[in-house]
Amino acid sequence: MYRPAVANIHLHPLSHNYRIAQSLCPTGGQALAVVKADGYGHGAVAVAEALAMDAPAYGVACIEEALELRAAGIAAPILLLEGFFTADEIPLMIEHRFWTMIHCPEQLETLVQQLNNSSVTRPISVWLKVDTGMHRLGFSVEQADTACRQLLSLPNVSDLCLMTHFANADLEQPTGVSQSQQLQRFQAFANKYSLPTSVANSAAMLSYPNARLNWQRPGIMLYGASPLEKPSSFCQQLQPVMHLESAVIATRWIDSGESVGYGSRFTATQPTRVATVAIGYADGYPRQAREGTPVAIDGKITQLIGRVSMDMITVDITHIPEAGVGSKAQLWGDLVSANQVARCCDTIAYHLFTGVTKRVPRRYCL
Ligand SMILES: *Cc1c(COP(=O)(O)O)cnc(C)c1O
Repeated sequence: MYRPAVANIHLHPLSHNYRIAQSLCPTGGQALAVVKADGYGHGAVAVAEALAMDAPAYGVACIEEALELRAAGIAAPILLLEGFFTADEIPLMIEHRFWTMIHCPEQLETLVQQLNNSSVTRPISVWLKVDTGMHRLGFSVEQADTACRQLLSLPNVSDLCLMTHFANADLEQPTGVSQSQQLQRFQAFANKYSLPTSVANSAAMLSYPNARLNWQRPGIMLYGASPLEKPSSFCQQLQPVMHLESAVIATRWIDSGESVGYGSRFTATQPTRVATVAIGYADGYPRQAREGTPVAIDGKITQLIGRVSMDMITVDITHIPEAGVGSKAQLWGDLVSANQVARCCDTIAYHLFTGVTKRVPRRYCL
C-alpha cells in the first residue's frame, strides 16, 4: 500500500472491551459478540478470531455474514439477528448450526412448513423476538404466547430463547417508550416460561443493570465507542479499536481573507498554515463534518477547515510548526474519539465505523 490512509485495528483493546462486556453479565450470563456489518467495519473474521477464546457465540445480520465466518473456520454458534429471509436458507442454517431469530408470523409459518416436509434431522436453535415497543421487528406481546407455544411443540426446535430489543437504551431522557416499560412488557410475557432470555444491547448493558439477563448482545461497546448520550464510568473504560489514520501530503500558508477547498467554506482571518491530508468521503470520512471537527496531527489535536473532498481534507496546522509532509494524521482512534467526530457530523460512531470503505486497508495489530 502506497497511499497512507489506513484503518489500524487494535485487537488487544477489542479483547479488553469484550471482558468489560463479560463483567456486565450476571452470574451464569453470557455475552454474544455482535459482529454484523463486517464487524462494524473492523473485519468480521478478524474480530471473531480475536474473540474466539472468549465469546461463546456471535451475532450477524444475515446468513451471508454467518457463512463468511464459517468459511474462515469460526466454529462457535452464530445467531442470525433477523433470522432467514427465504425458506432456502433453512437447510443451510441446519447444516452450519446457525441459530435463527423468528420475529414474525410469516417467518414462523415458513419454519413450520420446512420442518414438517423436509428431511430435517437435526434440531435448530431458535430465538423468539417480541416487540415490546420498538415496533420494527418482533411478535406483538399478544401474538407471542401462541408463537412460543407453537415453537415449543415443534420436535426439531431446540434451545428456545426469548428476546426483545430496546428503542431508547441510549438516551438519558427518552421521549418515547422507556427501557423499563419495555422490560416490564417483556417480563410479563417471559416470566410465564422458564426459558433463557435476552434484552440488552451495549447501551442497556452499560446503563441498565436490570436488563442484564441470560444473554447480552454487545456490539458497539466491543469496538470501544460509547452508545450512550451521557457516557458512564464503564464507557470510560472502553478502548478504541479502530484508529483511522492517514498522513499530510501537502502544506501551505494562506493569507488572511483567502479560503480553502470547495465552496470556499472556510476563510482565514489570519495567516493560516493548511495541511492537506489524504482521506476523504470516498474513504468514509463524512462529508458532513463541520468546521472545527477534531483531527490529530503528529499527536496534537487541531481542526478540520474547509469542506471534505472525495480523497482529501484540509486541516489547520498553524499551531503545529513541526508538522509537514509525511506527518501522521488521526481521524479517529485513541487521540480523537469516534464519538466526538460523530457528534461533529450529526451522526453516531456506528455510522462512522461501518462507513469506512474498502479503499481503506484494515491493518491488524495488538
Ligand atoms: C446490532 C444489534 C445489537 C448490538 O447493538 P449495539 O448497540 O451495537 O450494542 C444487539 N441486538 C440486536 C438485535 C442487534 O441487531
